Amino acid sequence: MPIANCKRCGRMYNRMGREICPNCIREEDKMLNDIRSYLRKNKLANITEVAEGTGVEYEIIVDMIRDGRLMLRDNPNLMYPCERCSTPTQAGRFCASCTQELARGLSVASAELRDKNSQEPKGRGFYSRSN
Ligand SMILES: [Zn+2]
Ligand SMILES: [Zn+2]
Repeated sequence: MPIANCKRCGRMYNRMGREICPNCIREEDKMLNDIRSYLRKNKLANITEVAEGTGVEYEIIVDMIRDGRLMLRDNPNLMYPCERCSTPTQAGRFCASCTQELARGLSVASAELRDKNSQEPKGRGFYSRSN
């Protein structure tokens, strides 16, 4: 079993998939429960209000949403900025349009790479002479 330092409290633990130790997982579960019950009563709360209402740090709440541990269904105001353009978003690291753009950018980049490879001159002596 691999031993790791907990990302959250720094203690050594037997790593089982998560980057935090069983103690911290328990604590996080408790926080998640607190957040969920707060949200049931305050559907229109934003993250700052949830942080104040539950005592859980803003960044931890955002992390939970990003990781998909905290699912937002009826909470339209629970938003955090996209990592790329800062547009408020409710899931993942990027907003919907950045996700789309990044996906497009990736396919453009790989298409360019394909073109470049196919246009590469082949069999010209002076390219290999410098080796
Ligand atoms: Zn820990
Ligand atoms: Zn964005």
